[in-house]
Amino acid sequence: MADDPFENMLAQMDRATAYADIDGGVFERLKHPERTLKVTLPVELESGNTEVFEGYRCQFDSARGPFKGGVRYHPTVTQREVEALAGWMTWKTALVDLPYGGAKGGVICEPKELTDRDLERLTRRYTEGIRRMIGPETDVPAPDMNTNSQTMAWMMDTYSMYEGYTVPKVVTGKPLEIGGTPGRVAATGRGVSIVTERLFEYLERDLSEATVAIQGFGNVGSNAARLLDEAGARIVATSDVTGAAYDPDGLDVPRLTRHVEAGGPIEAYVDGDLRGAADERDGWDAPDHIGNDELLCLDVDVLIPAAVEGVITAENVNELRASAIVEAANGPTTVAADEVLTERDVQVVPDILANAGGVIVSYLEWVQNSQEFSWPEQTVNAELERRIGSAFDETIARYDEGDVPDLRTAAYTLALERTASAHEYRGLFP
Ligand code: NAD
Repeated sequence: MADDPFENMLAQMDRATAYADIDGGVFERLKHPERTLKVTLPVELESGNTEVFEGYRCQFDSARGPFKGGVRYHPTVTQREVEALAGWMTWKTALVDLPYGGAKGGVICEPKELTDRDLERLTRRYTEGIRRMIGPETDVPAPDMNTNSQTMAWMMDTYSMYEGYTVPKVVTGKPLEIGGTPGRVAATGRGVSIVTERLFEYLERDLSEATVAIQGFGNVGSNAARLLDEAGARIVATSDVTGAAYDPDGLDVPRLTRHVEAGGPIEAYVDGDLRGAADERDGWDAPDHIGNDELLCLDVDVLIPAAVEGVITAENVNELRASAIVEAANGPTTVAADEVLTERDVQVVPDILANAGGVIVSYLEWVQNSQEFSWPEQTVNAELERRIGSAFDETIARYDEGDVPDLRTAAYTLALERTASAHEYRGLFP
């Protein structure tokens, strides 16, 4: 199951249908993506070689509005993964009540092996490949793993060149200078931090006494770490692909952030490559180096998977000791593991709620582009907090009705009912 995220998503949907008020015929339609385009992308690299890449764009469901979803660059991208991620986007936009459907894109590549010039050419070629599908009112891409505001700038520019005028609204997550919104870069991590705080309020526990382990210190993990650290929680471990830094007394998050922003892997941080004279002078002790598997099994109050899908599985779930899990990554928990966590009463804030901050602020960027007006960061952050907070409250209210077994099922029940209701009102064409 861990290696087929699409099956995992279908199993999550199946689990929720027992509790959701949905017509069987509509539910059957919700299990199938509307369409997936596969594109072949020949790119002349800076080295002079021509490499042929493969990319996808899946549009899963548009009953509630234009398709919306990120673009991922990663060597393990598959069509099934992109389709699962597009499905999760559909349930996410419905749960947080945005007027969008769900989509996702991906290109099979190892960005670390590509120069900036190569990445620009690949992005432009990919955008050309999918440009008949995307558009400001049809399908609006955004960043995901290994893509960022620069990637969005290249996509926006390529699309605009074909249209003959500048179309900022075709992508979100853009640089500020070309229609981006303040608050977008940190939005997903900020949302993760907000729902973690809300969870602690709900459980009547004190976040300032909590220990937190975060797998993945990229855009989402590092911003969640910073904001939870500022909120008083103790971040005891975090990781990247090279392994994890662990300090039971709490990591120095600003110092680790400076190291990672300077391009350093976590492995080099813990191995003491940073221990220059200044560090010795201020008596800094490097944290321990542990593996990503060990990080997942630490005895902490909150575990935040913020890297890739399928990391909490039937194989390791019995070793997990965290009392709550906040899913910052998409699809980090398999259905088999989920059932064990529910039995053990471990509260799991599901991905479609926990990491919805990114798409909420993407929506706010799109709205500002429509208005040709820009809001200050405080307005964006306040609106993010209001929207993710009310989705959290609605999920908790559904859970507290007492019939659904866990927060994920509560969230799916709401999301599926909203999407199904849109289908029923619109009817089946022709
Ligand atoms: P990123 O590329 O900025 O960071 C990913 C981090 O995970 C890096 O630290 C990387 O080293 C680490 N990592 C990668 N593979 C790993 C592995 N096998 N084991 C351990 N660590 C690994 O990506 P991001 O934007 O922070 O996204 C992280 C997750 O959050 C993804 O699942 C993504 O789909 C999800 N997400 C991102 C956003 C967003 O706005 N960026 C929004 C919603 C969901």
